Amino acid sequence: RAKLDGRGSVWFFDQRLHDELLHQHRLVERLEQALDRGELSLHYQPQVSAMSGRIEHLEALLRWYPHDGPPISPAEFIPLAEHTDLIHRLGDWVMETACRQRGRWRDAGLALERIDINFSGRQMSRPDVFERFEACLARYALGPRHIGIELTENVLIEADDRILEGLHRLHRLGYRIAIDDFGTGYSSLSYLKHFPVTALKIDRSFVRDAPDQPEDRAIMEAAIFIGHRLGLEVVAEGVENREQLALTQDMHCDLVQGFYFYRPMPAADIERILAGLAVG
Ligand code: C2E
Ligand code: MG
Ligand code: MG
Ligand code: MG
Repeated sequence: RAKLDGRGSVWFFDQRLHDELLHQHRLVERLEQALDRGELSLHYQPQVSAMSGRIEHLEALLRWYPHDGPPISPAEFIPLAEHTDLIHRLGDWVMETACRQRGRWRDAGLALERIDINFSGRQMSRPDVFERFEACLARYALGPRHIGIELTENVLIEADDRILEGLHRLHRLGYRIAIDDFGTGYSSLSYLKHFPVTALKIDRSFVRDAPDQPEDRAIMEAAIFIGHRLGLEVVAEGVENREQLALTQDMHCDLVQGFYFYRPMPAADIERILAGLAVG
């Protein structure tokens, strides 16, 4: 057994760090190939009316199913891609795929509002992010009724003038701009005054514990209250059971998203559900 003297533990730490970096580096390499090999796909998770359960919007969520291994979560690979320009290729791919899909569903007459696309901080700091966004929508003749965006609080806080101007433009055009994971960023509430947002998504962690924890319940209630007072649409993330749903209803939350209603799923499953609803 190794001696845990100073030098021993330093070596141990270095080795682990080295292994971790190597692992990350290999993952980014594989991810790059994954794009070309068609291993990526989008799943869509419905956001439904809290009162009626009716599907309103969908959130596009990136999936990676390697041909030669187990699926890898976006929570693992997106932050890695963020360290490189690969995030831009991924972002373009997500945008193109979501817009193409929305265009098809529009043409098929499916009863559906927007598909929301997640944008990370690094993606927003790309100089032509807004031009690309609008060009992509134009390719499929889509507008603010079809596609929306999700940004975390931290992205908003760190936004420079160029990004803010771009967001204001989208806001004026009527695009849905949602604050993702609301309540978990390092922010004061004052930013809500200045940023052009239209919706607030309460982080899953509050919703998860709300039935048992008065503190989480209080935060959730306050978030819904402030959201509504500011004229924003409020979404509860991660609703997994009846109790959580009942709370969101009692608190007059507008929309819920979570496994209780639907998991993220491939486009074909969404079609089956929406087609079934249209007929029934
Ligand atoms: P997010 O944007 O907050 O997405 C919601 C996450 O919560 C998704 O995880 C979804 O599967 C999960 N979720 C939804 N309902 C429930 C529930 O009832 N219970 C539980 N336990 N989880 C639920 P996912 O798909 O693993 O994505 C994780 C994160 O990765 C996303 O968090 C987002 O930050 C990022 N991400 C995913 N796709 C993209 C993308 O296309 N672009 C960017 N930039 N980020 C993405
Ligand atoms: Mg999101
Ligand atoms: Mg979220
Ligand atoms: Mg989240």
